[in-house]
Formats: sequence, C-alpha cells, structure tokens
Amino acid sequence: MLSFDDFAQKWSIDSAPLEPVAARYPFRLNGYFEGLITTREDPIWKQVVPDTREISDLSGFEDPLAEEELSVAPNLVHRYPNRVLWLVNDRCALHCRFCTRKRRWPDDDGSPQTPPDLKPALDYIARREQIVDVLLSGGDPLLLPEELLDEILRKLREIRHVQVIRIGSRVPCAMPGAVSQRLARMLSKFHPLYINIHFNHPAEITEASARACSTLAKAGIPLGSQTVLLRGVNDSQEILAELFHRLLAIRVRPYYLMQMDLTAGTAHFRTPLGTGLKILRMLRNRISGLAMPQFVVDLPGGRGKLPLLPNMIREINDRQMIVRNYTGHSCAYPLLRGEAEELKVEMARL
Ligand SMILES: *Cc1c(COP(=O)(O)O)cnc(C)c1O
Repeated sequence: MLSFDDFAQKWSIDSAPLEPVAARYPFRLNGYFEGLITTREDPIWKQVVPDTREISDLSGFEDPLAEEELSVAPNLVHRYPNRVLWLVNDRCALHCRFCTRKRRWPDDDGSPQTPPDLKPALDYIARREQIVDVLLSGGDPLLLPEELLDEILRKLREIRHVQVIRIGSRVPCAMPGAVSQRLARMLSKFHPLYINIHFNHPAEITEASARACSTLAKAGIPLGSQTVLLRGVNDSQEILAELFHRLLAIRVRPYYLMQMDLTAGTAHFRTPLGTGLKILRMLRNRISGLAMPQFVVDLPGGRGKLPLLPNMIREINDRQMIVRNYTGHSCAYPLLRGEAEELKVEMARL
C-alpha cells in the first residue's frame, strides 16, 4: 500500500489542500492499480485520488441506502425477503472515492484486523428459511484471511436453506495478484457460488486481471460485473461498449450498470439519470445482448434497486404498438383485440 505522501510526491501534486480530505476519507491505493495510471486526471486517477469536493460538497447522505437502519445483526442487511447482504470485511484493495460505504472506511494504521463475530449473522440466517441467497460484500471478502473466508462459506453451506452464495469483490480487477489457484480451489468447494466483480473502465482489463478472472472461471465460478456509471470516468457509449464487450471476452458477464448513489461528497461523480438511459439506448443491439447490463438505481432509504430502460414506445392504439427500433426507425407491432389495455397499464402510460 502506498502512503498519500509518497503518492503526492511521486506525482508532484500539492497535497496540502487534500490532507483534510484524506484525514476524513483515508487514501488507499496499491502498487498494481497505481501502475494503471498513465496521466494525472485519467479515468484510473479520478477513481482513487482524493478531491476537495469530497468535503466541500454538502449534498447527499452518509448512508444513502439506509444500510445501518436495515441491519438485522452487525453487518447484516436484510432488505429483500429472500436474500441478505453480509458485509464481512471492512478492508478493500483500494478506496474508490465514489464508494457508497465510505462512511465505514477504516483508518489505515496497519494494525491487524480483529476477527469479526460471525455468530449473530449466521444465527439470523439459520433461523429464517426464506433466505435462499446470501451476498457477501464489504469491504472485500476476497481480502479476508483465506481460513476465515473458508470458515464463513462452510458455515453458510451448513445452513440447508441457503442455496446460492454470491461474493461481491473488486480484487480480481484491483489486486489480481491476490487471486491464487489456492483461493480458487477453496472457493470451488462451495458451489453454487457466484462472484460479481467491480470493473469500471477498459484500462482495468489487463493481462493480470484477465488471468485472475480466468482462474476463477476455471474453478467453475460464474463471473458477473457491476459497473458504476461515473462522470468523467466512463460516461460515454464508446468507453462502456468497449468495457462490456471486453468483459465478456474475459468470461465476465456484465450484470449491473449502477447509477451513482446519493452518497455524501460524491456529487462530482454523478451523471444525470438521462445519461445512463441514453448510453443504454445507444448500446442496445450494437453490442451483444449478452454484454448488456441492466441499468439500476438503488433507491434512497433502502427501497431497493430499480431497473430503468429507455422508452422506445411511441404510441399504443387498438391495433398496434408503434416503436422506435435501435436504428431510430419507426416500426409497428400488431396487437390482438383487447391487448392494448393491459399493455398500457404495464407500460405505465395511464
Ligand atoms: C443489491 C442488494 C442485494 C442484491 O440484489 P440483486 O438485485 O439480487 O443483485 C441484496 N441486498 C441488498 C441490501 C442489496 O443492496
């Protein structure tokens, strides 16, 4: 890990105005990810280097998704009936400045982690048969000591009703050297296990990150990606088309493109909602359907994820639905008698 002073010196930036930012929201960057920076202010830089707007902007919420309020045990968020989010680690390979959980960032004082108390969360899950899907996130679960992650997964597997386990991680992208054959072998004992990786920019797809993904895919783990739509980083159709296509080529299926949460001190990263919809409309049918993620907004207050689609319908009448196709051409789709009513209701046009 690089200290902020060393980083500032190396890249000759004036660190004084950024010190209060780093004091509030610690800087964290590893040598591998720093190596992806080609110039100051490039899309890698913007994701990891502190910015004074993080503390000058007073809009937004510390905990936009009300995760603390929805916690049912320490670090366990139960929002949807059949699945839970378990934040098993506070540490990450780096600190993304737009992080939705930056309120929880630990100070990087180099002290060893205290092992978390797993029992309350495990008891909660074990007592509720409706929980069939457990999502481990953090921080980054793949940075836990291997024996501890093994223990967490083993204890979850002992709960009969937990059918699917998912891990959300940035490690294959941000610290690919940490994805060893050994780790993949350990994970493969717990199928069905899915991993969703946080990738934001084509520059993050390197030989090393491709190899890390391959190691996991060969262990039988289906890989998805969760990309955050970030102003000045990836908010263009060219960049995202390349990212999604190249992810598919390294066996990572784009899952979500996420609208920036309303997190305090991150407004400079947020794009208008229309930007995401426009990009989606431009990409539709131009890249493989398999490379198309869902565009989702995580609603404030923990009201859940809302997928948004550009509206391609121009008119619905008794005989037909008139739509615009991906090239902008108007097309008619014939409707059966009586079909229009229900269609209008489902399309929320009434
Ligand atoms: C995102 C999220 C999930 C998982 O949602 P999916 O749409 O199934 O991927 C579960 N719980 C919480 C609290 C979440 O934020």
